Amino acid sequence: MPERTVEIDIRKDLFGANEEAAAMNAATFKDHGITAIDIMGSVGTGKTQIIEALCDRLKGMYRILMIAGDLATTIDADRVSSHGVDTVQINTRTACHLDARMVRVALNDVDLSLYDLVFIENVGNLICPAGYSLGVDKKVVVVSVTEGPYMVRKHPLTIKRSDMVVINKIDLAEAIGVDVDSLVNDVREVDARIPVYSVSAKSDTGIDRLIEGLGL
Ligand code: MG
Ligand code: ZN
Repeated sequence: MPERTVEIDIRKDLFGANEEAAAMNAATFKDHGITAIDIMGSVGTGKTQIIEALCDRLKGMYRILMIAGDLATTIDADRVSSHGVDTVQINTRTACHLDARMVRVALNDVDLSLYDLVFIENVGNLICPAGYSLGVDKKVVVVSVTEGPYMVRKHPLTIKRSDMVVINKIDLAEAIGVDVDSLVNDVREVDARIPVYSVSAKSDTGIDRLIEGLGL
């Protein structure tokens, strides 16, 4: 028999350490007067597209940094940087989400006095990114009509943990046969307090209202 047994709750420990790092990130952003926004959503929902649309509108008013989380590529960061916005890449290799420590490491490499607004594009995955605080001001979930009619109903926890839901690609809703209003209602059913914005980043619809909603 061992003299003593140490029980480790891996999940509790991991999440606890993450919350500490998230609090440090939040303090760092605050110290530099930076607004930070985490954009979550599955692959192909248009997270990058929305960041590009926001950057085009906002880059004259804010000094913007985009932090791109991706398993392996720099595709999204390259797209955003083609809009004249600075980017930092985090390749997570096997991790299917960003956590606060990854963001902390990325921030260590950056002169934050150069920025007022940070967009973090999370790894394309609608499930676990919502479980990890990054220390941002707002967590935004992007859902696309191309994902079909059940995306919101099937991810209630992710929706609940977000501060805003953006329904993207509404220009394709009719062709795909998905009702945008019922997606909006599904969000209301999960939590009526969460604001929902319907946009088409591609055809530049609803972006001004989204910017207002983000308080930018
Ligand atoms: Mg992307
Ligand atoms: Zn994950």
